[in-house]
Amino acid sequence: MRLIKRLVIHCSASPNGRAVSIADIDRWHRERGFKRQAAARKAFRPELGSIGYHYVIELDGTLRAGRLADEVGAHAAGHNADSIGVCIVGTDAFTAGQWKTLAKVVAEMQGRFGPLAVLGHRDLSPDKDGDGKVEQHEWLKTCPGFDVAAWLAAGMKPDSKHVLPNHKAAL
Ligand SMILES: [Zn+2]
Repeated sequence: MRLIKRLVIHCSASPNGRAVSIADIDRWHRERGFKRQAAARKAFRPELGSIGYHYVIELDGTLRAGRLADEVGAHAAGHNADSIGVCIVGTDAFTAGQWKTLAKVVAEMQGRFGPLAVLGHRDLSPDKDGDGKVEQHEWLKTCPGFDVAAWLAAGMKPDSKHVLPNHKAAL
């Protein structure tokens, strides 16, 4: 088993509230030239030939596995070897079900592989001014659309601005 040190959270950067399946993301990744290794594909989810993430959380909160944890992902340049990639469908507002599943999967991965550093894709941007923090002006992208550290500090309770309007009551 490879050594896993981080869990990186991503978003699909598709419109908030629009259903996108793991098969859709697999197709997008194929179009970008991603390709799983033949042996890994044969062993797990052979229908997904390209998916770069280990998990995708679909709009209704369903957790879909893309790659086995032991398979290196393709989701965070320079950080794939020792990380797990989880993608939540949307851009910066998600359903109650998605938030619950995200909390569950983070706890589960901590239990299996922890302690893991849990962070957003944008937090892996280079710290250009060298002050020890990756700040907004340094983000290469905005993915996953919310502040992962703040979410963790709040006991995995999302800020309501990141919850889809008709889902606020359900959290
Ligand atoms: Zn990302």
